[in-house]
Amino acid sequence: MKGTVFDIQRFCINDGPGIRTTVFLKGCPLDCLWCHNPESKKLKPQLSFIKKHCILCGRCQEVCEYDVHEVTEKGHKIDYEKCVLCEKCVEACPAKALSIYGKEMNVEEVLSIVIKDKNYYDNSNGGLTISGGEAMSQFDFTFALAKSAKKREIHVTIETSGFGKSEDFDKIEPYIDLFLFDYKVTGNELHRKLTGVDRGLIDKNLNLLLYKGAKIILRCPIIPNYNLSHEHLESIYQLAKAHENIVMVEILPYHNLGESKVEQIGDGYAASEAYMPEEQEVEGWIKKLKEMGLQKIGRG
Ligand code: SF4
Ligand code: SF4
Repeated sequence: MKGTVFDIQRFCINDGPGIRTTVFLKGCPLDCLWCHNPESKKLKPQLSFIKKHCILCGRCQEVCEYDVHEVTEKGHKIDYEKCVLCEKCVEACPAKALSIYGKEMNVEEVLSIVIKDKNYYDNSNGGLTISGGEAMSQFDFTFALAKSAKKREIHVTIETSGFGKSEDFDKIEPYIDLFLFDYKVTGNELHRKLTGVDRGLIDKNLNLLLYKGAKIILRCPIIPNYNLSHEHLESIYQLAKAHENIVMVEILPYHNLGESKVEQIGDGYAASEAYMPEEQEVEGWIKKLKEMGLQKIGRG
């Protein structure tokens, strides 16, 4: 059983309780305008180029057999579509400007990294977090990884947009200790406009998990000028109030990390009108939710 992994980060403290290892999988069916991991969207591995590292030496152009690179004294153009991921240019680049996002790994390879920090998990109530991309996109791999981790008595969390097959959520639920479930946008039309997909399936899966009694942290990215409205805050409150097994609401204020990453993979950034809110503004949102009556709230 192999999956395409784009990163494994140890000692994470923001992806669920305690100290955790977060496994980031490639592939996401959503297209959120503000995506902060754009390198995870495509399921397949892809070439990455960091322009500011490039010294225009032309080594990549010399070794590439597919005419992907065009290096002149004026700059470095890349035709990403032609790349077959042979890695020759990555190895040849003296400035570490090139790399490949995504690597095929099997479950045991991933677990051998995760298991290294078992003592830290046990002492901090931490564990494994499977993230993405969309963790449910590579369902068979995610399921096998979660099951194997549970067998080794590791706490397992999944970070998900909720967009996946309902039967998959149903099947994996017994092996997941905690769902970090996104609540991105209120209203279907706006949801489709900002994320590229309808809310219907996400709501269905959220309801399924709530019905099954899964433990859920509702994660709410707040993107000023896009999804922020009184109606949105009100619906976050109503949802959390209605369900005891939503144990916490986490507010995730917009940050612009994705902006520099899209350039590395040859894409453009879509959330140009978003801005990073001042601390005071974020506190204001949290205060509003508390005034509505929401107590189980924190920063993600
Ligand atoms: S990975 Fe291979 S095909 Fe892709 S740009 Fe580099 S040398 Fe060319
Ligand atoms: S080999 Fe690296 S530093 Fe040289 S031109 Fe290519 S990307 Fe730039």
